[in-house]
Formats: sequence, C-alpha cells, structure tokens
Amino acid sequence: MLFAPEALTPTIESARRVLKQYYGYDSFRPMQEDIIANIMAGRDTVVLMPTGGGKSVCFQVPAVVMEGVCVVVSPLIALMKDQVEALKANGISAEYINSSVGQSEQNSIAGDCLNGHLKLLYVSPEKLVSPGFTQFLKRLRISMFAIDEAHCISSWGHDFRPEYTQLRLLREQFPQVPIIALTATADRLTQRDIQQQLRMHEPQVFLSSFDRPNLNLIVRPGQDRVGGILEFIERHPNESGIIYCLSRKQCETLAQKIQQKGIKAGFYHAGMTANQRSAVQEGFLKDDLQVIVATIAFGMGIDKSNVRWVIHYNLPKNIEGYYQEIGRGGRDGAPATAVLFYSFADVMSLREMLTKDNPNLTQLNLTKLERMQQFAEAASCRRRILLNYFGETLPHDCGNCDICRNPPTTFDGTLLAQKALSAVVRMRERGSIGLLIDVLRGMRNQAVLSGGYDQIKTYGAGADLPYLDWYSYIHQMLNDGLLYIAYEEGYALKMTDLGREVLQGQRQQSMKKFQVAEKAEKLPRGKRAPRGTGKATDTGTDLYEKLRQLRKRIADEQNVPPYVVFSDATLQEMAAERPVSRVAMLGISGVGMKKFETYGEQFIREILAQGGAPTPDDAAAADQTSLGPDDEDTRRPRRTREPGDTHENTLLLHRQGLTVDEIAERRNLAASTIRAHIETLYAKGQQIRLEEFLSQSEYAEIMTARAQLGGEPLLRDLFDHLREKYDYFKLRLAGLYQKRLSGK
Ligand code: ADP
Ligand code: ZN
Repeated sequence: MLFAPEALTPTIESARRVLKQYYGYDSFRPMQEDIIANIMAGRDTVVLMPTGGGKSVCFQVPAVVMEGVCVVVSPLIALMKDQVEALKANGISAEYINSSVGQSEQNSIAGDCLNGHLKLLYVSPEKLVSPGFTQFLKRLRISMFAIDEAHCISSWGHDFRPEYTQLRLLREQFPQVPIIALTATADRLTQRDIQQQLRMHEPQVFLSSFDRPNLNLIVRPGQDRVGGILEFIERHPNESGIIYCLSRKQCETLAQKIQQKGIKAGFYHAGMTANQRSAVQEGFLKDDLQVIVATIAFGMGIDKSNVRWVIHYNLPKNIEGYYQEIGRGGRDGAPATAVLFYSFADVMSLREMLTKDNPNLTQLNLTKLERMQQFAEAASCRRRILLNYFGETLPHDCGNCDICRNPPTTFDGTLLAQKALSAVVRMRERGSIGLLIDVLRGMRNQAVLSGGYDQIKTYGAGADLPYLDWYSYIHQMLNDGLLYIAYEEGYALKMTDLGREVLQGQRQQSMKKFQVAEKAEKLPRGKRAPRGTGKATDTGTDLYEKLRQLRKRIADEQNVPPYVVFSDATLQEMAAERPVSRVAMLGISGVGMKKFETYGEQFIREILAQGGAPTPDDAAAADQTSLGPDDEDTRRPRRTREPGDTHENTLLLHRQGLTVDEIAERRNLAASTIRAHIETLYAKGQQIRLEEFLSQSEYAEIMTARAQLGGEPLLRDLFDHLREKYDYFKLRLAGLYQKRLSGK
C-alpha cells in the first residue's frame, strides 16, 4: 500500500490531499470546500445541492480526515450498496448495515467499528433507531452523523419517511457529535423542518446553485417521436440513456421498438414485480441494458453516474419533476443531453389528469403545468427560465441549450398572424389549434369538412407552410397574448383585444422563425463540450470505445457497475490525453491512488495497444511508458504518432510565461497532466524554463543522493532516500537535466 493511513489533522489542506489521493480530483467544486471546513470545525451543517452536484464528497472527505467513524443515514438499500462500493473502489474503508445484511456479517462490521478500522458506516434509519443500536454507537468514536436525502424528514415533502422523524434522538443521545444533513430539495419549508427536527444548533446552510451546466437542454416538437428517438439513439451509440413516458403501455411498446433496432433496451414501471424491476435496474447499472424506457417510478435511488441522455417522451407535469429527471443525466460532470418532446396534446391530457387528481390542489398544479408549458414553448435561453423558476438568476445566456445554440431569427410576422386571426374569427372561435392549422393549410379531413370550414375565405391561405411551422407561430401568438385557449369549450381558440388590433392592422407582430433544434444536435458526436470548459472530449474515438470495453470487462469480473471502476468523464479524459505513465495517469481526473494501483496498468496497456501516447518513440516515450519508478519495463508504443497538439499547446502557453497552474486552468486539465507534458517536452529537447521547476540547490541535493545510492538508482529508491522531499516530477527532471549536461 502506498498510502498507509496517516494521522491527519483536519485542515482543508489535508482534505484536499484526500480528494486527490482517494478520488483523483484536483480541486473541490464550489462550496464543497466551505462545507467541509464547517463540518471539520464541528459545526452543524445543512447542504442543499442538486443531484450530481457532489454532495457525497462533502461528508466522505472529512470522514477520512477526521478521527473516528462517520455514521451515514441513508434511506435506500440500493443506494447504500452503491456508495459503499464506490468508496471501497477508492480505497476508503466503509460498510453498511441494513435489513439485507446477515447477523454474522453485522457482527464483523461492528468489530471493525470498534477497532477503529472503519471510516464510514452506512445505516438505514430503521436500524439506527432500533433498540440496542444507539448503545452500540455509544461505544464508538463518531466523527459526525451524515443524514443523506434529509428531505425525507419533512412531512411536506414527497418522500416522507416516518423513521426519519426519530432521528432527533441523535442530538439527544450524542450532543457533541456534529450533524450534516444533505438534500437536493431546496424549498424553505423542507429546510426548516430538517433543522428543527434534527435539533441542529445554529447550523450553517449551504445553498448551492442548481445549475447543471453540462446538461444540453433541447425541446423538440412532439411529431414522430418514435422516429426521432430511434435516430437519436443511433447517433449516440453505446451511450446509456433513460426515456420517460407517461403510461406503462407506452414504456413497453417503445422499448420493443428500440429492441427491434438491435439495441439493448428494457422497460420499467410500477406494474412490474419487484424482482422484475430490480433485474432491469441492475441490467442498466451494469451497462447490460443501454436504454431504459420508464415511467417516473424509475430513477429514485439510482446513482448511475454515466447516464448520457434523458428523453421525455411526454411533457412532465411540472418543472420540479422535469429537473429532477433530467438531473439523472451527466452526474459525472461529462456532457449529457436532455431532450423533451413537446406537444399541445400532452398539455390537454395532463390538464385533465390534474383536474381529476386532487381537487384541492388543482389550481396549484395547473399553474405549475403552465410554467412547464412556458418552458417548452420558450424562445429564449431555457436554462435561464429553469433557474429562474428555482429563484436563481443566470446573468447571461447559457450557450448550452437549443435556443442558445441555434438562436431564432425574428421577422415581421404581421401577415402570418392576420391569416391565423382571420381564420379564428371566421371559424367563429370554435376551432382548436389542430383544426385551425388544418384549415389554414387547406386540409380536407372530416373535422374540416363537417364544420364547413373549407368554405371560409382563409381556407388554404397558409398552405405554403408545414404543420410544425404553423404550430410554432400559433404558440407564439398565444404566448404574446393575441389568442387564448378556452379550456372549458373544448380548447377552442379565442381572439383577444390585442389580437384584434393586429388583425385590423393597428399593431405589428414580430415572430421568431421556426426551426427544429436539429442542427445543434447534429454536431459530430462527442465533440461537444460543456460550456466554459473549452475542452474537446474524445468520446467518438476507437480508443474511448476500447477503454469502455475494458471497463466493462473489469466491472463484470468484480461484479460492480462500470461507473464504479471509472466514470465516463474519466475515460473521456484518458482517451483524449492518452496517459501512459504513472504521472500522467494520476493526472487524469478521477484516478486516485487506489484506482491507479488496481486498474492503472490495465488501462495503460490498452492505451499502448491502441497506439500509445501522443509522442514519438524517443527517450521521452521510453520514459513515459514506465508504469512506475520501480518498473523499468519493456512496454513501448507499438505505433507512434507525431507529437500531439496537446503538448504543443502546453509549450505555447509555457513560452508565454504561464505557470503550470495557469496552463492547467486555461486548458482545463490537471496540473499533473501539464507537468507530464513539460517533462516530455524537455526530454524531447525543447527549451523550457527548468528553473521554475527545479532550483540549482535541489538539483545538487538530488545528484548527491544519486551518487550515494550508486549506479542508476530506481526513482522510487531515490524518492525514499530523499525521504519523499522531492516528487517524481522533480526527480525525473533532474535526471533529464543531467542527461542533457552529459550530452546523452
Ligand atoms: P450528488 O450526491 O450530489 O448527487 P455525487 O456526490 O454523486 O452527487 O457526485 C456526482 C459526481 O461528481 C460523482 O461522480 C463525483 O465523483 C463527482 N465529483 C464530486 N466532487 C467532485 C470534484 N470536486 N471534482 C470532480 N468530480 C467531483
Ligand atoms: Zn441557453
């Protein structure tokens, strides 16, 4: 083991080291650091962060740093298992106790707790409040209580769990132990309930932004959904995705159609047996099923981080639900897509459903549905609308929604509007949207003919435009208040006073040109990057695919979901950076020490087999291919390529006087990756500012140590001999410098 557990003082620096060493991440996300500092100071903490925001790190990292065991209360057995597996894969000792764990195993876990071997213990709320368990806990040193999915405590919320209300006994029985409560639900009432019921002492509340910038938001008209979905899946081969439908039947038939295309798809809804459902869920987690078609019953308690897209076949009832569902995409931070198919027919059936559902809540629910509809019909940045709904303002357009990617152009739509308004009037304000469009386009169907609408003057006046265009223009007129829908009169369209002004030519109407969000979607796969990263991902390459296959093989052998081995984001970075040395591999975000030890070599082999590092087969490449300082091995790239742009870009920025950290930030790469570039560049004879990385006295000290060891010492021996004073980067640079001096 490279990382014998050291006695850590709970400082933010040690927390940062833990993040790098165990998780392989270079820096905390916004807020994580403040949250961790607060909890390490022994203060009660409330964390409100969206799904995928990175809540787990907030208690897991301090749990590693602080003395004792962190007791995590988590409501779902499947979730506990996932989290514990992920922790173990990172080299952190964790276990869980719930009704699925046998007595002898519970005893052995209890033993580990008493020995102080365990950093995190996950328990179900039932177990926690069961007789005897608190007595057991009293014998332990507990660093903190972490209450996950803390909104379950609130009877106002949608996931109320009665056992959660007993958690107040934690404060009563363990007054000294700090409590951290985490949830993705941000409303005030829930927040207040959490604090009160857990008897928190003046907790600090951390409310993070609910923005998920890596989600590409797209709304498409609800015509030919099946065709659109099949085409979408074809354009995203091997990418995991979820399709949400309203009805069970729809789930089954759509799944079947997808299967017929040779794609591994399953369906999931509340009408299935528990066994069937968990088999489907398991298949999805393990990437054996690429696509799940499900009702909204699916998703709660699913931690799968590599869901690359979420499609809504139907309009969701409200924005809360929509946001929660799309939030299941891209939890690893890599780009993901959310597509919503929108049709007015969905609005109508939802209205009916909601009116029947619960009479007391009808008005509230209808208002929420209206906001959802406005989002779907919007002609301005969708992310701004979403965040606005959650009380946040985005100061700029997001650049990662269909509207931003493909901004609509406006034109003088007065004439178009007049045609539609005139038809509305001549149809005596009795027609629905669909009928109006049919009349404008001169269709000869039953509804048109039986109403005698083929006789009115505007019949066929809009035959030059396709259905979808009219659909969009009429919705714009609705949104602009020229028309409204009389829901109680069979959804008939009525003209407003504003509409009359337009019809009479007293007012101009500007319209946004209709265009399908297709263009943005047809960008080459995998070349899209989330806003602000400027980083091209490499998901489309063969190498990425090979790495994915290797991940799947390893995951199956170990019986864990593939994303527990490495996240998609990590594999994407590997495919782009092609790390073949220890240093470079550890520089990839998501590769911590334990994962490097467990999997590093296999992934390096695969990269080498696929052409190796983006450097020529020279001294540098030879150096690069060694797996570790004590592993002078024979692996060389089989096929080498010209120096990759990635090194040249680093060199360019270095020549511009940027420091390693600045280059890393500018290029959105890990600092260790940049250091590996510097090493390679220097080995290849490029001029770099060596003094920035290695002083004369450091060089002298390293050379003295080398001389003391004699011969050509292994880097690890040198490292140990110098008592870890210099990192491998410096040691290698010193070696390269000496080579240069001696003209080798
Ligand atoms: P939540 O519980 O809030 O839904 P998770 O804790 O599962 O979110 O985190 C989502 C993903 O983000 C995980 O893959 C996690 O490893 C990753 N992550 C968390 N913190 C960081 C960080 N500081 N840097 C990079 N990735 C992170
Ligand atoms: Zn936008």
